[in-house]
Amino acid sequence: MTAANTSVARIGPYTITRIEEMLTPGFRPEFLFPDFDAQLLQSHPQLKAEGFWHAGSERLMSSMHSWLLQSDRHTILIDTGCGNLKARALPLFERFHQLQHPYLERLRAAGVAPEDVTLVINTHLHVDHVGWNTRLEGGRWVPTFPRARYIWGAAEWAHWSAQGQGSAKLPENLPVIADSVQPVVDADLSELADDISTVLPGLSLQSLPGHTAGQMMVVLDDGQQCAVFPGDALHQPMQVYQPDWNSRFCEDAQTARQSRHRLLEFCAERQALLFPAHFGAPHAGYIRRKAAAYSFEPVQ
Ligand SMILES: [Zn+2]
Repeated sequence: MTAANTSVARIGPYTITRIEEMLTPGFRPEFLFPDFDAQLLQSHPQLKAEGFWHAGSERLMSSMHSWLLQSDRHTILIDTGCGNLKARALPLFERFHQLQHPYLERLRAAGVAPEDVTLVINTHLHVDHVGWNTRLEGGRWVPTFPRARYIWGAAEWAHWSAQGQGSAKLPENLPVIADSVQPVVDADLSELADDISTVLPGLSLQSLPGHTAGQMMVVLDDGQQCAVFPGDALHQPMQVYQPDWNSRFCEDAQTARQSRHRLLEFCAERQALLFPAHFGAPHAGYIRRKAAAYSFEPVQ
């Protein structure tokens, strides 16, 4: 196992491992969160820990990774990062342009070859969640995981169709659908999830809209322990303390806030282990509630 892979937990039959694509300083907080108030950093020094905050540049640490769930029978990837060699020259996406990261090597270091993956789940279809769905082969984008079924929300798929609102909300994402999602559909590997869908025993997709119209969270629950993969309902630990702060990429502000409150409440109530898509090290943790406020307790 390389240093970039960290096995974080075991829940039910699954071992959960983070497969890193990249871990870098990302956006400035005032850019990512239009409501940002620097006072929050004073009142919660935890948010300036080096895992979350890059002091030199005053930027938020940003991780791109997949969560790998392995059991005797299933090899599951939740979200697939940005992908290699993709043309993302637009200013908003330039951090994702023509990447060459050893993501598949890191997957192999966790004992997984691309053909071993049985299931891919995309929480939503933004640029940084679908990239490794495909790879370049002979000048064409082909599914990276040829034996997997790929699942995302039916509402999300409708959102990015010609009739949906996605193209108006974030036109930069349309080439992403073309090179990282459509080839999976064309290869007949895709399935659509309804608002609450049990995918495997103990593993479900549940609607968590707002960031995008059809975003879904993944819930793994063995009856005792519970894990939640919330996509981009939470970008950064700051939002645990300020649940009303949307990222600038949240499409429907009011729905995104409602979903974030519901997510935090669910995690606190269920004592679920939360596996966000972009939190810096240590990348996962628990949501604790005290009176009306929440706090984030990173895993050890
Ligand atoms: Zn994201």
